[in-house]
Amino acid sequence: MFLSANQRGINILIIWDLQFSNGIICVKIICVNSCHSQTFLKINNPSKSRKMDKIKLLGKNPDELKAIVSGLGLPAFTAKQLADWLYRKKVTSIGQMTNISLQNRKKISENFEVGASAPEEVATSSDGTKKYLFKAGNSYIESVFIPEDGRATLCVSSQIGCKMNCLFCMTGKQGFSGNLPAAGILNQIQSVPESDKLTNIVFMGMGEPFDNTAELLKVLEILTADYGYAWSPKRITVSSIGIIPGLKEFLQKSSCNLAISLHTPFASERLSLMPAEKAFPIQEVVNEIKKYDFSKQRRVSFEYTMFKGVNDKPRHISGLSRLLSGIECRINLIRFHAIPGVSLEGTPLPEMEKFRDQLIAKGIMTTIRKSRGEDILAACGLLSTARKNNINCIQK
Ligand code: SF4
Repeated sequence: MFLSANQRGINILIIWDLQFSNGIICVKIICVNSCHSQTFLKINNPSKSRKMDKIKLLGKNPDELKAIVSGLGLPAFTAKQLADWLYRKKVTSIGQMTNISLQNRKKISENFEVGASAPEEVATSSDGTKKYLFKAGNSYIESVFIPEDGRATLCVSSQIGCKMNCLFCMTGKQGFSGNLPAAGILNQIQSVPESDKLTNIVFMGMGEPFDNTAELLKVLEILTADYGYAWSPKRITVSSIGIIPGLKEFLQKSSCNLAISLHTPFASERLSLMPAEKAFPIQEVVNEIKKYDFSKQRRVSFEYTMFKGVNDKPRHISGLSRLLSGIECRINLIRFHAIPGVSLEGTPLPEMEKFRDQLIAKGIMTTIRKSRGEDILAACGLLSTARKNNINCIQK
C-alpha cells in the first residue's frame, strides 16, 4: 500500500496485482478516494530486460546446426561450415569463420556464440600433471592433463559436482549443482592449452557420466565422427560406477572403452563405500557387461582404489576372480589420495604389489596406476572444492 499526495489531498493507492511480461512489470493500482479507477503502470524489470545469454554452438551435432541455419534463413551448407570451424579448426569466435559472409556471421552472432572459454586457473605438479579449473555457474569443474610415456591424457568432468556421494570422493562431498551440457564437456577438451597434443580422453573427472548420458553421447559422437574430431573410440574411456540405464545405452550406441568403479567385489561392502550400489548392484552391472564382447577392439577395465584393511584382503582376490570370471578385462589398482574428514587410508604400495601379483596369478590382467599430481590436490574434486571455499592453494 502506498500513500500518494496531490493538490486535492491524500489518495490511497493499493497495489492490486503484479504481472511480468517481456521484461516489463505491470503494476495494477486502484486510486481509492478520488476516482476509484484502475490503471497499469509499466516499469522496466532490469533483470528481465538484461541481454539474454547467447546459445553455444559448441556441442551441436549436424542436425542441430542444420536447424539453426535454417531458422536463420541461411543456406544449408552453412551447417557444414560451422561444424568445420567448430571441431576441426577449433575457432573461438564466429568472427573467425571467414568463409561465411560477414553479413551471415553477424546474423549468427546475434543469438549464438562458439561457447569456448579458457580455464580460469591451473595447478602444475612437479611430475608435469596439470589440473585446470573451469568456471561452471557459481562452481568450478576440474580437468586434468596427464603427460606420460608418449601419451597425453585429459581427464574430463561430466557434471558440476555429483549426486552419488561415494565415501572416498571429494566431488561427492560437494553435492550436485547440475549436468554439464555437451558444450561444457567439449570446451574442456578444446580449451586446455594442450588440446592439440592429446592422445587419450578419459571421463573420470567430476560427476557420473551415465547420470548425464544424453550429453555424454553427443560429446562421444562429436569426438569420434568424421565431421567432428575424428578420434578413434579406442582412445576414449568412459568411467562409471554403473548406472545401469545409462550403461546399457552407452554399450549400444558407442564403441568407446568402459571403466567401472568397482572397489570391492562384495555388495554389502560396496554399499558402505558407494551408496549407488543399492540401486545398481555390481552383480547386475557385471551381468550387463557380460552381454558384450570386450575381447577385440573395445576394452573394459575395473577401477579398484585400495583402502587399507578394507578391500585389500585375500578374500577380495577370490571375490574378484569369481565376479569377473568370463570377462576379458583388466583391473587398475589405484592408490587412495586422502581427503579431509574421511578416515580411510590407502593400502601401502608393497601390499598393493602383492595384491596385484595374486590377481595376475588368478589370470586377471592387473596393473597399479601411477599416482600423479599429489602435490596439486590430485584427488577428484579436491581442488575445485578448495577454490569454491576460497582456499588459496592454487599455483597460477
Ligand atoms: S567417485 Fe565418481 S560417482 Fe562417486 S561421488 Fe565421486 S565423482 Fe561421483
